[in-house]
Amino acid sequence: MKLADIYTKETKVWVPDDALVWRSASLVDGYKDNDDVIKIIVEAIEEEEVLGHSKDLPPLRNPDILVGENDLTSLSYLHEPAVLYNLQTRFVERNAIYTYCGIVLVAINPYSELSIYSNDFIQLYSGRNLGEMDPHIFAIAEEAFNQMSRDDKNQSIIVTGESGAGKTVSAKYTMRYFATVGGSGDESTVEQKVLASNPIMEAIGNAKTTRNDNSSRFGKYIQIGFSGRYHIIGAHMRTYLLEKSRVISQGMDERNYHIFYQLCACAHLPQFKPLKLMSARDFEYTRNGDCTQIDGVNDESEFKETIHAFTLLGVSSKHQSLVFRLLSAILHMGNINIEENGNGHSHCSDSDEHLITMCGLLGVEPKQMAQWLCYKKLRTMAEVLITPLTHDQALVSRDALAKHMYSKLFDWIVRKVNAALSTTAEQHSFIGVLDIYGFETFENNSFEQFCINYANEKLQQQFCQHVFKLEQEEYVREEIEWKFIDFYDNQPCIALIENKLGILDLLNDECRMPKGSDQSWADKLYDRHLKTSKHFDKIKISNTSFFITHFADKVRYEIEGFLEKNKDTVQEEQLNILKASQFELIGELFAEESVDRDVEVTAGVGKRGAAKVKLSHASSKPTSVRKKKETKKTVANQFQESLAQLMGILNSTTPHYVRCIKPNDYKLSFTFEAKRAVQQLRACGVLETVRISAAGYPSRWSYTEFIARYRVLMSTKDIVKKDPRKTCEKVLKTLIPEEDKYQPGKNKIFFRAGQVAYLEKLRANK
Ligand code: ATP
Ligand code: MG
Repeated sequence: MKLADIYTKETKVWVPDDALVWRSASLVDGYKDNDDVIKIIVEAIEEEEVLGHSKDLPPLRNPDILVGENDLTSLSYLHEPAVLYNLQTRFVERNAIYTYCGIVLVAINPYSELSIYSNDFIQLYSGRNLGEMDPHIFAIAEEAFNQMSRDDKNQSIIVTGESGAGKTVSAKYTMRYFATVGGSGDESTVEQKVLASNPIMEAIGNAKTTRNDNSSRFGKYIQIGFSGRYHIIGAHMRTYLLEKSRVISQGMDERNYHIFYQLCACAHLPQFKPLKLMSARDFEYTRNGDCTQIDGVNDESEFKETIHAFTLLGVSSKHQSLVFRLLSAILHMGNINIEENGNGHSHCSDSDEHLITMCGLLGVEPKQMAQWLCYKKLRTMAEVLITPLTHDQALVSRDALAKHMYSKLFDWIVRKVNAALSTTAEQHSFIGVLDIYGFETFENNSFEQFCINYANEKLQQQFCQHVFKLEQEEYVREEIEWKFIDFYDNQPCIALIENKLGILDLLNDECRMPKGSDQSWADKLYDRHLKTSKHFDKIKISNTSFFITHFADKVRYEIEGFLEKNKDTVQEEQLNILKASQFELIGELFAEESVDRDVEVTAGVGKRGAAKVKLSHASSKPTSVRKKKETKKTVANQFQESLAQLMGILNSTTPHYVRCIKPNDYKLSFTFEAKRAVQQLRACGVLETVRISAAGYPSRWSYTEFIARYRVLMSTKDIVKKDPRKTCEKVLKTLIPEEDKYQPGKNKIFFRAGQVAYLEKLRANK
């Protein structure tokens, strides 16, 4: 087919548009092979515009029968405008928030309550095949559940998207689905416990941000275990990269973790009197975002739900009160008055009211704490020096301790929840649900965005490999020939990050050097990667930033703070005080070995003992301390390991993908901003799937379907009785002269992009 046959007069096309991203238009005249320009009319304003051509022949619009399809990959023209337009039409005109794009479920946040999640809906989807019903999160859950029982294989549901896109809501619906279809019918049982883990994790790991009132500040993979009869028997959860900095400071209009406000809202209850709590407006750590309340949220009743969930999970009241004591201690710690004395050093009175309350709650000595808030020990090979901290240093060191305490508590709660959800019954199979932050790019990107984007590179690679494999398998099954197409492979970018002498390796090295700095790390990066990696870049005018070309976007990272965030150090002496707490539980919480939760869950392959150097706070020997320092893992080390482990698990399961899209930034109900949507579709790989699809044979029809639709294009002599395949082959020989545009398979006929649109054109002209 020549271009002139495709771009005929009045052909409908898409043209780029600043506001709408793509605008629909049609051609004034047919395109001639030697035209420099083609004239098009933009439909909406009906005025002629001239568009330069050559490489820029406008993308073609799909025939109307395909608009609004449940599955985007069934579109004949598969490109960005088609995807965008279809999603938008479904969402705005039909309030359909779910659409398939091949194996991906695209879920657009409606920002309004829909009545499609009731138990009746669960029943409606239960036992049905994916294509039978309208796209739905329950359909994906059913597909996973069904494949688990059919193939005896573990499954994963991978939910990604940017903040506020609806990941956590979607993940919870899948969990509810499993609890219902995999429930034993008996309330108050294990499936109730599995669901009860949600309010607990949200209380301690979610917070109000400017993007989302209930933003998850950690990643989570929860494996729901099933028996041989596919009843839920337990669950196990892993968490990733909690945002610790939120414990001590929040952006304007943001809050700390919900649990702090819940606790403060209950300060007046008699059982909490010993905690000496005040209003959240009076604690530094809860008030610095100048926002202590969320519209429509009652922290006091939320707290009751949190406590109810703890109780349901069998967390004893002794353990609950430990949690509340620690949380209160953290709040009081933020209010300790650390002053600057005349000579630039810091000072903390050991009769400071908040210090005393904090130490009382933790069962430690205020005198010691006061000292080690303002001094530090420096160890050289020969001697131990005690040096005073400046005021700023003292605040940093106190805040580091607060963050450390919170993250230990968080991990401890995760372990408690896991213990409550563990089972001695034999697990036959599991379905894992991953709710993890999507690709991020802000004005100012630092270590956190770097880690998140690195995780997304890994997930994207897993995704592409899987999509590619499935396409291949389908072609093999249908016995059709297919040349390997070149699809985007992000391994070079991953290698840049995680190979030897890559970004992480150099960062970890720098952290081990006594005089290491962000700058000298960056210089090493420039030296090593500027010339050799096309994914690494910098701008001339700045030596304090670098660029990485990720699969989704090119992101600029500012180097400042990378080293400190990666080291994440806490003062040894402060920790030793906590370890020596008169309360056994607190001592245990801060003992060395509770560090690596992921090691613990891989049953038996733990590295227990490796870093087990018992330190009594009175006399720590310099040599043993050195040894410990060397074995301490950096944040990046730990993250890389847990990510590798996650990828291992995901790869051993059958994955299902949900991509959540946030359609506007104002939480407006059913409002679709094409610009925002297209960014996300690019970043989450939906457009990539479309590209992989489009490069193969995106349109597939069964032979009988094909004949039914295009009977008008066939004459009686074309029909081969009782052989739909032969019939199709015969007709297509005359309809589509180029042989590589379609391939007859065993059960289906496969078309290259554009062919179905062409057939539709022929059909319409009949
Ligand atoms: P973050 O990365 O910040 O944790 P998230 O992707 O997990 O964001 P959610 O907390 O799931 O986002 O969703 C944000 C809000 O959007 C919800 O609190 C809810 O108000 C609304 N929302 C999301 N999905 C739906 C849905 N399916 N139906 C109705 N409202 C929804
Ligand atoms: Mg969330």
